[in-house]
Amino acid sequence: MTGTKIQVLDPDTVNQIAAGEVVERPASVVKELLENAIDAGATSILVEVSSDLAGITMLRVTDDGEGMTPEEAVLAFQPHATSKIRDIADLSFIRTLGFRGEALASIAAVAEVTLVTRPRDSGALAGTRVVVRGGEVVEKNDVGAPEGTTVIVKHLFYNTPARRKFLKSRNTELAHIYGVAENLALAHGEVAFRVVHNGRERMATQRSGGLLNAIAGLYGADLARTLIPIDARTPLLRISGYLSRPFESRGNPSQVAISINGRSITSRQITAAVREGYGTLLPKDRYPVAFIDLSLEAGLVDVNVHPTKREVRLSREREILSAVAAAVEEALAGCDLAREAAAAEQVQQQIVPAEPEPMPPVAEPTATYAAGHRALTLSDRQLRRTEEAGDAENLLPAMKPVGQVAATYIVAEGADGTLYLIDQHAAHERILYDQVVERRDAAPETQELIMPAVLSLPPRESAALRDAMPVLAEEGFVVEEFGRDTFAVRAVPAALGALEDPGVVRETIADLLTGASRTNPDRREAVTCIVACRGAVKAGVLLTHDQQRRLLAQLARTKTPWTCPHGRPTVVAFDKRKLDGMFRRG
Ligand code: ADP
Ligand code: MG
Repeated sequence: MTGTKIQVLDPDTVNQIAAGEVVERPASVVKELLENAIDAGATSILVEVSSDLAGITMLRVTDDGEGMTPEEAVLAFQPHATSKIRDIADLSFIRTLGFRGEALASIAAVAEVTLVTRPRDSGALAGTRVVVRGGEVVEKNDVGAPEGTTVIVKHLFYNTPARRKFLKSRNTELAHIYGVAENLALAHGEVAFRVVHNGRERMATQRSGGLLNAIAGLYGADLARTLIPIDARTPLLRISGYLSRPFESRGNPSQVAISINGRSITSRQITAAVREGYGTLLPKDRYPVAFIDLSLEAGLVDVNVHPTKREVRLSREREILSAVAAAVEEALAGCDLAREAAAAEQVQQQIVPAEPEPMPPVAEPTATYAAGHRALTLSDRQLRRTEEAGDAENLLPAMKPVGQVAATYIVAEGADGTLYLIDQHAAHERILYDQVVERRDAAPETQELIMPAVLSLPPRESAALRDAMPVLAEEGFVVEEFGRDTFAVRAVPAALGALEDPGVVRETIADLLTGASRTNPDRREAVTCIVACRGAVKAGVLLTHDQQRRLLAQLARTKTPWTCPHGRPTVVAFDKRKLDGMFRRG
């Protein structure tokens, strides 16, 4: 080894690196340590998290990467010391995840950090142990150590009480940590990840299982099996990954995971391009589940926009975005999108069975999830519940149902000969929403499920569910945790009205846990919207004449019958004059 790999950057280079804090919360520490381990060529990384009721007490990341010499181990903590770039010219060609040379220094400034490391294949018999507190090296000695690096972080934010105060509940912080690990695991199928919390394994992916295997490990084989591979090349870039079939959609884009050259990033534009590729295969407000990696010339990507490197700037952005949309569209066009996924068996064979089993074998909770077979008729009970709802005056003009089109729209005739089309789902959604809101002051109306719906969730979602429990209880859900990331839903709000179908309960919970409803400042409102949406009669359900009549009568008694809670129209009208005009009747 000649000299040292790590160099302190010259001030000019430093100044051009967007300054900023990288350590906001425990998850940011985990992110930086994981990125360092990946940059060091690790093939296997272990994250250990300890917590007590007050919060996260210790983070430890162990890798089998290239390790550091004793000099490097000390230098690594100096601000702007990095082995990854030399000067500003290199900034345009960053292939590593790190490059700012400030993560370890920033972490060590707000915590106690112990680094134990031994270089790989160096013949060095001993490793080095360095303890840094408040930015100062307070201990340095030789220790026996395996090849690779272990970083232990304790007393995070001990000297910055303001930052500590901003931390959310322990479960929220854990959810962020799992989220970071998931994103990196998805972008790095070549590395085996394991996350352990208080001695219990929370997630594990296998090395060289590839992306699909990582997805199966993180989200379950059921989802992985139905995904559609995408692999497209243009002169500019290669787009690869997996896309969900349209029926596996979400209410927000949080499940669209994007990486560029293996770096997990967030980009509203790229997410929008992926969504655009689905076109009308998805309803306007739904998003797919997608795992997309773009590989393009490093010179086209500027990752140096934001200190956490989650945002990037692209040159030739327009071309890249339209290539992404086109590739998604083409991948979807080339396959059978029916629910009975035709390609399922093929994909299944590529999945190496994960060990240990990622999902506890409880009652096959995902068996019907997203299988989405819909009842073809509406049970009368579903309408009877809202029968007496509201005493408001009739806001809709009188109309008489004539029939149904496409089992989706009710056709009705007004007294003056106006033709009305009513979206049955949007209408019912409005009815249920108004009813729940109107009765908010009373105790929530719940209905017990005949069979509790059992949910096994990935760690990130189960932490989110624990967090959401108080709001859910307010709205009438009875949810109990009874095992590792396993929950039983025993009762649901009456408005959900889906006793027969545990799939609906699961989908509702899944919607409740995803980003938009989680971050909505009015969580109760968000929950109500989702319950109304999930409880409402779907498109594609046949209604009897009497049911059509009752649905219209109930809609007429709501306060704002013309739109659903999301603001979409419930009723479209063609008045007689317009009809006459269309037939050129004077
Ligand atoms: P950066 O990753 O931006 O270079 P860091 O502060 O995160 O900055 O790390 C500083 C340097 O310490 C890295 O450039 C690398 O040389 C070394 N280093 C950090 N973590 C590891 C690790 N897990 N294995 C080997 N070297 C590491
Ligand atoms: Mg780094």
